[in-house]
Amino acid sequence: MSKLSSKHPFRIGRSRTGLGLFATQPLKKGTRVVEYSGPKITNKRAEWIEENTDNRYVFELNDKWSIDGSTRSNLARYVNHSCRPNVEAYQYDMKIWYRARWTIKPGDEILVSYGQDYFDSFIKPVGCKCNTCLNRRKREREEERRKAARKRAAKKKNGKH
Ligand SMILES: [Zn+2]
Repeated sequence: MSKLSSKHPFRIGRSRTGLGLFATQPLKKGTRVVEYSGPKITNKRAEWIEENTDNRYVFELNDKWSIDGSTRSNLARYVNHSCRPNVEAYQYDMKIWYRARWTIKPGDEILVSYGQDYFDSFIKPVGCKCNTCLNRRKREREEERRKAARKRAAKKKNGKH
């Protein structure tokens, strides 16, 4: 894994949901961070894979071709989902790259949005564990607690009358 750092601006490391990619140097906005690589397959084949296997790494290129990103050499498959992603997929010359949406600091996990379809099918049912969603749920729980405390305080006050 240490060999990676010389070739790539990231390392594979442990994240909340398993393995993830982490920046090892500052990545300026627009930088190509990692290629989403793999064999080019027809969309017909892609459809078959999605219906008959657990492979969730098929990425559609256009109305004819997809990339099967399930191969070990595709390091982009370690990039986890976030609802506030710091990289985005873009297509260049029949290749898919993840590029920085803003400057990413060393140590930051590289995160992409898996898209609405994937989110609805696989993430929503179990609850999204990205920082944005965890923080939102934490804020909501705190707000609930504050509301409950206010209610109790009001009851106590009324009880004294
Ligand atoms: Zn989320």
